[in-house]
Formats: sequence, C-alpha cells, structure tokens
Amino acid sequence: MYFDSISLDDCLQNQTLVAQLTGYRCKLHIVYLCWRTIFKMEIEAWYSNNFESLISGRYVTLAHIKPLLKKYNNYYEISILGVSELGKEIPMIKIGSGKKIVLAWSQMHGNESTTTKSIFDFLKFITQKDHFKDEIKSFLNNFTLYVIPILNPDGASLYTRNNANDIDLNREAQDLSQNESRVLMNAFKTLKPNLCLNLHGQRSIFGLETKKPATVSFLSPSSNMDRKVTDSRRMAMQLIVGLNNYLQQLIPGQIGRYDDSFNVNCFGDTFQMEGVPVILFEAGHVGNDYRREKTRAYLFYSLVCLFEILKQDDFPINYKDYFLIPENKKNYYDYILRNVLVNGSIKPTSIAIQFTESLEKGTIKFIPKITKIGALKNTYGHLEKDANNSKILVNYQNNIEIGLIVSTINNKNDNSLIYFNKNNHSF
Ligand SMILES: [Zn+2]
Repeated sequence: MYFDSISLDDCLQNQTLVAQLTGYRCKLHIVYLCWRTIFKMEIEAWYSNNFESLISGRYVTLAHIKPLLKKYNNYYEISILGVSELGKEIPMIKIGSGKKIVLAWSQMHGNESTTTKSIFDFLKFITQKDHFKDEIKSFLNNFTLYVIPILNPDGASLYTRNNANDIDLNREAQDLSQNESRVLMNAFKTLKPNLCLNLHGQRSIFGLETKKPATVSFLSPSSNMDRKVTDSRRMAMQLIVGLNNYLQQLIPGQIGRYDDSFNVNCFGDTFQMEGVPVILFEAGHVGNDYRREKTRAYLFYSLVCLFEILKQDDFPINYKDYFLIPENKKNYYDYILRNVLVNGSIKPTSIAIQFTESLEKGTIKFIPKITKIGALKNTYGHLEKDANNSKILVNYQNNIEIGLIVSTINNKNDNSLIYFNKNNHSF
C-alpha cells in the first residue's frame, strides 16, 4: 500500500502504542506510513506554489512549449525524433540515467493537452533543487524517462484529435502511414522501454456508477482478443491499482477504468502485445474545471506516485483490485436543466446541454448546444439546476430542438434568467 489513507495525527498518536503492542517490525511499518503521509502532504504543498505556470488552459501547442524546451535543454538531453506531416518538429526529452526505461508520450491526440501540462509540472519538480532531494536523486538514478510531450504537433495547433491528414494516430499502430506514427514506433523499437505511459484526455461526457464524473481514468490495454491477463498486462494493472489507491484520497469515487476491448491498431494494445506494460492515462473532467487545471494536478500527483511505486523491486499489490475500479460510462453532460415545460407540452421534461469546443483566435471557446431533451434518468450534469416545472424560453423562443446553440434560457412567466452564457466560455 502506498500513500495510505491515514491522517498524520492518527498516525503519530497511534505510533508508539501500536509499536509497543505489536513489536519493532510494526513500528517500522508505521514509521514508513508516517513518512508516506508526510511526503504526500509536502508534495501537494509544493505543487500548489510551484506548478508550471507558463502553460495553462486547453490550447497547448509546440509554440507554447518551445520556451520550456529551451530552458530544459540546459538540464536534459532534448532530441528531435522527426517531423509531423506538416513539417513540425517532434521533440523528446531524456531524463535520468537509470536502468528502468520508461517511454511516455502526450498529445498523440492534438486537443488532449492536460497531460502535457502535467509533464512540465513533473519536469519542474524533478529539476528544482530545494525539496525532495533524496527522492529526486533516487528517481534520476533508477530511471531513464523519455518523454515526447507533443506527438501530434499539427493536431495540437489545429486543436483537433486527428493529425493534419485527419488520421487518428491511435488507430495507426499497424499501418504506420503517418510520420507521427512512425516516430512513435521507432522510439519504441530503439529505446526498448520497460514501461510505456500513453497520456490522453477524455471528454466531459464520462462519469461512473458512483454518480461522480470520471476525473481520471486508466486502462491496462488488452494484448489479445480474449483479454487475457498477461504478465505485462498484470504489471500495468498493479500500477494502476497503486495509483487508484492514492487518487481515491484526493478525488474519491472519481477514478474510472476504460473499456479493454482489444484493438491491434491502438499503440497501447500493440506495445502490450510485445510484452511491454502500458498504462493509458485519461485526464478527465470535474465541476467547472474547463481549463483542466485541477485535473492537471491529479495527473502530476499520479506521475510522482507512479515512480515512487516503481522504485520498489517488488510491489505487493493485488492486480485483481484493478477490476474493482468502476468502468467509464457515458452518463454526464455539461449542464442539465431539470423539470422544464417546453414546446407547449404540459409534461415536465429535462434538457441536457453539452459544450462544443472551437478554436477561435488562439483560445478555445465552449459553445453550449442542446444535446438531449427527455427524462435524463441516471445521467448527471457537471452543473444542474431544477426549474420547478417552469415554462421556459430558449434564446427568447418557444420551440426548442436538439442542436440548438444556447445563448439564454428564461422563465417564460416572469422572464427571469435561468441560464445565461454571454460570450460562451473561452479558455
Ligand atoms: Zn486520446
């Protein structure tokens, strides 16, 4: 168990008593737990004052990270692995000199930028010299971490999932028809990693049976159609269980597990077929965090926690607990207005609004659209409001339909504003 969920006070109060009762070995264990708890508190304190403030929000491109690459060029080896289909460089950062090789890549899907921010938080963390000296020294001696911060720089620039040729790079592991896919495959074959970290972001539609949003989700991809638990898959599952144990303390009930259907065209599945453990990270949503700055922190903590677990030669984590993590469900909308009377009906219904993301002048606009009208049972809104059976007007109109872009929602009787989004959200 790592980063156990005991409070520091409990820990200190019980330490002596328990040790007297159960002996020296137990005392050592409790001291270890105390140290873990203190480490967790200190790391959260460090993060809140020191995260990488030079990149933020949803629109993160090669141009945004270039000043950071320049800075880290003084500390780490930075190479250019190749160029994208539109000729943009694909850089890779090499950190540490240890025997355990880890290969991580982010923004394979261009508009999934949260994990890229977390990577630069992590880089800042291991580069600073004031805190956690022993832990960082141990990390640099134990691991060689290769990071491709933006695998799909064209998609990042266009704010699209796919690359410039409209190809989903994560369905390319066999075809390798695109420059970016070949860059990743070459890196895998050349570096021969012991572990791969496939860093993604997921839409705000995902929630869990806990009724909470899927703020962070994981997958240990399958390596065959039967989804058998191979050695590499088991190891990725153990690591995910360790990460889940830690994250549950920060965001209880908000950690999910992705569908493990096998797809040989996905890089994670293909690398796992080669016997290399792969962890898929999905940075998700919570509350009003459309800039994904909260989720970014959870991903940073996950990276720190992961390397702490990996430092042990043997970690006693039961991989079967992986299956206790709830599966992702599509049960969330950005906004739900419940109990409204619309389109002349006297039967109350509910309206779900989902934001469409659009790149406009260097920022991402979130345009609210009506996505569903109906009972909306077993579905939840990141924001919800009860209209108490009011007749409503949307954009001052009586009739509403799916796909309508929403500016305002008013109560028809007294004209009071229920939902108002003047310039849409932009991040
Ligand atoms: Zn993705």
